[in-house]
Amino acid sequence: MNIHEYQAKDLLSKFGVGIPAGHPALTVEEAVEGAKKLPGPLYVVKAQIHAGGRGKGKFKELGPDAKGGVRLAKSIEEVEEHAKDMLGNTLVTVQTGDAGKQVNRLYVTDGVDIAREYYLSMLVDRATGRVAIIASTEGGMDIEEVAHSTPEKITTITVDPAQGFMPHHARAVAFGLKLEGDLNKQAQKLARQLYEAFMALDCAMLEINPLVETEDGNLLVLDTKMSFDSNALYRHPDVEALRDETEEDPAEVEASKYDLAYIKLDGNIGCMVNGAGLAMATMDIIKLNGAFPANFLDVGGGASKEKVTAAFKIILSDPAVKGILVNIFGGIMKCDIIADGIVAAAKDVNLSVPLVVRLEGTNVEKGKEILDNSGLAIVSADDLGDAAKKIVAEVKQAA
Ligand code: ADP
Ligand code: MG
Repeated sequence: MNIHEYQAKDLLSKFGVGIPAGHPALTVEEAVEGAKKLPGPLYVVKAQIHAGGRGKGKFKELGPDAKGGVRLAKSIEEVEEHAKDMLGNTLVTVQTGDAGKQVNRLYVTDGVDIAREYYLSMLVDRATGRVAIIASTEGGMDIEEVAHSTPEKITTITVDPAQGFMPHHARAVAFGLKLEGDLNKQAQKLARQLYEAFMALDCAMLEINPLVETEDGNLLVLDTKMSFDSNALYRHPDVEALRDETEEDPAEVEASKYDLAYIKLDGNIGCMVNGAGLAMATMDIIKLNGAFPANFLDVGGGASKEKVTAAFKIILSDPAVKGILVNIFGGIMKCDIIADGIVAAAKDVNLSVPLVVRLEGTNVEKGKEILDNSGLAIVSADDLGDAAKKIVAEVKQAA
C-alpha cells in the first residue's frame, strides 16, 4: 500500500525527522488557509498523487507551457492561483503512464533555500533478507538514471534486522552522502530515525528524494515516498486509515472487498482460478497458446456463488476482456456447487463473451452436467491444455 507525501512526512515527523512545515488541502480555500499558517515569504504547492516526477510533470488540461505539479509561490495570492490551476486537473509524469492522475489533494509547504540535494532510501532486499539503505550525492533526479550512468555515485549499506541498526551503519550512510562536520552528524542521526520508522511501521520502501542541505546548514526531508507491506497492515490501523482508494485501480479495490486476489494485466483473456499456483499455471498456458491473460485472479478456497459473481463482474469491468477462462479445482469445494455458482453468475451478469470452463475434482461429472444443461454457451474443457486452446480459439473466432 502507498500513501501520499504529506502523510508520510507526518509519520516520519513522529520519529524526530526534520521536515519543513506544511498543510494538506482538498480545496483552494484550504490551500490558502494552510499558506497563511506558514511563515512565508516562499511557499511550495505540491500535487499529492501516488506517483513521483511531479515537478517535471505536465497537466493534460493546461497546455505544454504550464508549470508542473510542484510549484514555488512568492505570495498567498500565488498559492491560490496554483491551487486553482492544479486541483481537479490531470497530472502526467514519468510514473503515472499516459493516462495521468487526477489531482484531488494538495500540500502547501515552506519554501526551502536549497544548497544541495541528496538521495536516501531504504527497502527490503529479498535476496539477502536484509534492509538495504541506498545513499547518493545525486539527489533530486531519477535514481535509475544515476544507477545506470554513474553507479559509483551510489552507496548501498545492508542492515541485518536481527542485529539492528549499528553506529557503523550510520557512519557509512553519512560517508556515502559525502557529508562532513555537523552535517555528517545530522545524517547519522537521520539514518537511525529513518531505520526506526522503517521497522516500526513495517515499510516495504521508504525513499527521500531529495534530502536537502539548506543554506543555513540543516538536513531536511523535502520529498518522501513510503509504501507498506500489505500483509503487516493489520498491525497498523493508523497506517491503514491513510489508504486513498481514489489512487488505486478501481477493480482491485472492488476485488479486495470480496477477498479476491485480483491484479489487472494487459491481455484480453480474463482468468478465474482457485489457488495462486494454478492461476500462474493458467496464465502461462494461455501465453503458450499465443494469447495474453487480462488478469490474475485467485478466488481462493471457498468460492461461493457471491464470490464467483463478484469475480465475473470484476473481470468484465475490463473492456479489454474478450473471453473468460474458468479453471477450478474442486478439492474442498465440490465441482457441482462451483458449476451452480458459475451458471448463476453468468446469467446474473448477462455474459456476452465466450466462456470456457475447466473443472476437476470432487463431483466433476455432476458439475459438467450442470454446465451442459444450463442453456448457456459455455464450452467445457477436459484439462488445462485443452481449456487454454479452446479459449484462445474462441476469442480468435469472435474477433
Ligand atoms: P517529485 O519528485 O514528484 O518531482 P519533489 O517533491 O521531489 O517532487 O519536488 C521536485 C523538486 O522541487 C525538488 O527536487 C526540489 O528541488 C523542489 N522542491 C520541492 N519541495 C520544495 C520545497 N519545500 N522548497 C523548495 N524547493 C522544493
Ligand atoms: Mg522527489
